[in-house]
Amino acid sequence: MEKMKEAVEKAIDRNAAEIIGLVKDIEQHPELGFQEHRTSKLVADFLRGCSYQVEDGLALTGLKTSLKSGKNKYTVAFIGELDGIICKDSPKASPADGATHTCGHNLQLGILMLIAKAMKEAGIAGQLDGNVAFMAIPAEEYIQLEYRRQLRKENKIKYLSGKQEFIRLGLFDDIDAAIMLHAEPNSEEASIHIYGTGNGFELKDVHCKGKTAHAAAAPHEGINALHALIQGINNINALRDTFRDEDHSRIHYIITKGGDNVNSVPSDTALQGYVRSASIRSIKELSSKFDKAFLSAGENFNAKMSVSTSAGYMPLICNHSLNEIFVSNAGNFLPEDKIYNKGHFMASTDLGDLSHLMPVIQPMMGGIKGGLHSPDFEVVDYNAAITLPAKIAANTIIDLLSNNTLSAILQDYKPELSKKEYLHLMDKK
Ligand SMILES: [Zn+2]
Ligand SMILES: [Zn+2]
Repeated sequence: MEKMKEAVEKAIDRNAAEIIGLVKDIEQHPELGFQEHRTSKLVADFLRGCSYQVEDGLALTGLKTSLKSGKNKYTVAFIGELDGIICKDSPKASPADGATHTCGHNLQLGILMLIAKAMKEAGIAGQLDGNVAFMAIPAEEYIQLEYRRQLRKENKIKYLSGKQEFIRLGLFDDIDAAIMLHAEPNSEEASIHIYGTGNGFELKDVHCKGKTAHAAAAPHEGINALHALIQGINNINALRDTFRDEDHSRIHYIITKGGDNVNSVPSDTALQGYVRSASIRSIKELSSKFDKAFLSAGENFNAKMSVSTSAGYMPLICNHSLNEIFVSNAGNFLPEDKIYNKGHFMASTDLGDLSHLMPVIQPMMGGIKGGLHSPDFEVVDYNAAITLPAKIAANTIIDLLSNNTLSAILQDYKPELSKKEYLHLMDKK
C-alpha cells in the first residue's frame, strides 16, 4: 500500500505544473451550470489523452470515466464540479454573463485530472480491491432557475442541479462512496478543513396580486401588493428569535418585483427566497412557517398571495469514518494544527442529496485568499489548493480500496434514503 501511495505521489508531482496550467485556463473561461461545454471538453480530452474511456454529454455537460473496466465489487467516486458562479464585481468575470470561478470549482477539476493521470501512470489499478470512478458534474450552483426550468420544459433535464440529475440518470448506481474537495475561503496557508454536516434548503417563489389604483388620488380603491409582501417579510423577521441554534436556520430572500410605476398602487409583486436549515425535519418546519407568514399577510390585505416550493438541496451529512481516513492521510503532509475540524457548513451543496444515499465527504483545502463568490477570491498557493489535496485524496482512495477498508465502512453504514425514496421525495415537490 505504501508503495502504491509513493508511486502516485511521485506522478502527482511530475504532472502538477501541466495541470495547474489547465486550471488557470479554465479560470479564464468560466461557464455557468449546464453550459460548461468548453470546460467539459477540456477535461474529457485530457482524460482521453491519459487512455481513459470517457462517457460525456451526461446531464448535458457532465462526464464519467473509471480506472478499470468491467465489474468491480466496490467503486469509489472522485467528483469535480464543472460550473462557475456569477460574480459581476470580480475583475475576472466573463463579460457575457458575469461567470467566474470564485467558488474554485476549477481547482476541483485540477485535483480530479491530477489523481486520474497519476493513478494511471503509477499502474496501481490491478493492486486495488475495487474501482475508482472520476466524475465531472455540471451545475452545482443553484442559479439561473428560469433558464433551467426552460431546459426542463424542453425535457433536457428534470431536476435543477447536476448531481440530482446524475442520481436520476443512474450514474451513481455503481458507486459505493464519493469524495469531493472544495476551496476553503480566507485560508491562505496550506491546510485542510473537515466538515461534518451542512445546511440544506428549499426554494420559495412568492407572488402577490393586489389591485391597482392611482397612488395619490385613490389609494383607498387599490390593494397594495407591495405592502402585503413587506408584511410577509416582517412576519418572517418576527419569527427569527424562535430559531434553535442547533438547527442553523437561515431565511433569506430578494424582492424580484416591487411594482410597475410609482404613481400607481403596486398590484403585482414577487419575492424569491431560500429556507435553509440543518435537517429535513427543520427545513419542513421552517418551510411551513414561511408559507403561513406570507399567506396570512395576503389575507390581511385581501390580496391574492401564493407561495410555491421547489426542491433545493438536502442537508449534507459527511461520513465520519471516511473523514477519519482523510484526516490520517492529511497528517502525513500537514502538522496537526493545520487540519481544522470545522463542524457545520452553513452553505448548501447538492452533494447533500448524494450524502443521503451513500457515504460521502467534502473536505475543504486552503491556498485561497478572499471569500467564496466574492471579487477578492484568489488562489495564492496552487500547491496547497491542488497538489497537496490531490495527494491526500488519492491516498485516501488507496486506503479505502485496500485491506477491505471500504467493505468494513459499508457494513456499518445505513443510507438515509434509498434511491427510490429520494426520487419520490424530489417528485413530490
Ligand atoms: Zn459556490
Ligand atoms: Zn462551490
